[in-house]
Amino acid sequence: MNILILPGDGIGPEIISVADAALQALDRRFSLGLELDRQEAGLAALKSIGTTIPDEVAAKAREADGVVLGPASTEDYPSTAEGGINISAWFRTQFDLYANIRPSKIRADVALAVGKATTEGCRRIAVAAFELAMRRTKRVTAVHKANVLRHYSGLFLKQVDAVSVDYPDVTVDKVIVDAMAALLVRSPEKFDVVVTTNMFGDILSDEAAELAGGLGLAASLNAGDDHAIAQAAHGSAPDIAGQNIANPVAMVHSTAMLLDHLGAKHVDVKLTKAGRFLAEKTDALLVSESTRTSDLGGSCTTSGFGEALVASILDS
Ligand code: ATP
Repeated sequence: MNILILPGDGIGPEIISVADAALQALDRRFSLGLELDRQEAGLAALKSIGTTIPDEVAAKAREADGVVLGPASTEDYPSTAEGGINISAWFRTQFDLYANIRPSKIRADVALAVGKATTEGCRRIAVAAFELAMRRTKRVTAVHKANVLRHYSGLFLKQVDAVSVDYPDVTVDKVIVDAMAALLVRSPEKFDVVVTTNMFGDILSDEAAELAGGLGLAASLNAGDDHAIAQAAHGSAPDIAGQNIANPVAMVHSTAMLLDHLGAKHVDVKLTKAGRFLAEKTDALLVSESTRTSDLGGSCTTSGFGEALVASILDS
């Protein structure tokens, strides 16, 4: 399995190093046969090659089974003509990554699947949500505003209904977005897979991330039929870059999601197991103050978390 690692900007190199070390440790422990290739994209590539996405990196990403991508400081990029291509957006459009899955462990484990409101976009995101539900607790909540946005949300709900026919084991609920914002705070345990359109998903996933302990825990996977990219939902956090204090958990959880996704796609039980193992070991470290970073009230550094995670993967 060929995985391309692109550190990106800001805190990217720091948090990616933790994900990279965790992948190496998992490879040793589970003999996954991973081939990890670390390349530059973003501001570092702009400086050395003159573009944030060098052709060679783009070609490697196309060949890779999966990509682990750090955040991008797009506000610091020059114009596209001067080489400042938004790396996150570029991958999403070039690789047709229509499903953005954002899990959130509040008091319950909620996963948001977000997609564009075109007929095909809605159908594909609905399929992604139902497939995800089949691997979890077989419940899907479709969030919409069809009472007002009849066309936009109506189109979305129509596709959810159409796709649901192929998944008779999955229970489907429909909730209006305003109510969902309140219910997510009041009773997150009532939800499992939440599927919605782009804007609602962006807002609800930030709400869910905040409830779960902040952006440092906000993992995400961008997936399409042929490609998948693990990228934390947070930005490049320039205010704390280079200080070894960024929380790498969102990046590591995104990486665990990629392994889980690749395991399901290639019917590779070892990969699925390794993904779940990585997520469990990461969560176990959050229990102790000494292995939590400062955004979660702990005293651990980014690299310290990485060392503890590798030790836990290899020792247990
Ligand atoms: P973007 O627009 O690129 O998504 P943003 O401007 O919304 O990014 P972030 O870069 O995500 O913002 O940062 C928002 C705040 O959250 C900052 O104060 C930042 O330090 C903090 N933050 C973000 N990610 C992390 C992390 N992994 N660990 C600790 N703090 C973080």
